[in-house]
Amino acid sequence: MSRKFVLSGAIALAVAAAPLAGGVAGGVAVAAPAPSAAATVYYSTSGAPSFRAAINAGAANWNRAVTNVKLVERSSGASLRYVEGNDPRGSYAQTDGHGNGTIFIDYTQARQYDNTRITAHETGHVLGLPDHYSGPCSELMSGGGPGPSCHNANPNSQEASRVQQLWANGIRAAAGPQQRIYEKMPVG
Ligand SMILES: [Zn+2]
Repeated sequence: MSRKFVLSGAIALAVAAAPLAGGVAGGVAVAAPAPSAAATVYYSTSGAPSFRAAINAGAANWNRAVTNVKLVERSSGASLRYVEGNDPRGSYAQTDGHGNGTIFIDYTQARQYDNTRITAHETGHVLGLPDHYSGPCSELMSGGGPGPSCHNANPNSQEASRVQQLWANGIRAAAGPQQRIYEKMPVG
């Protein structure tokens, strides 16, 4: 138990004690973390009106796959914004991997690839997952690797488990600087 966790206070204590769930820590009974401890990431689709349905479908896929973090659309005060437009470098996620940032959906890529797969994939970056282009279609973070015929917009069990770990009990390690991750999907 490193000192930095002490700063997180009671919630961190509850998490640390979770492996002892139902038991006793240091002679003191500890309650299991409440379900309400799940983190909520609020997102805005106002900058990407053409893709609102795909964005919401992708968010719903994540919400079905994981419980430690929940994606909720909100018009104001969102930490995650989706925007659309043209960029010869393609779509990107500019994010700290902790629920903050901007997802840009490129029109050219959106004409070629499954739109919900694009939005769910980019959202995966915002939840902390890296690209893995060499993976199969069943993997969400393989992105454009399997080609335009891939329509899977759901994370596989390993991807869901990883996000569950990253957002365990609603706690995500301190956010770092945002990075822009371009999608290297073949275009044209
Ligand atoms: Zn990606």
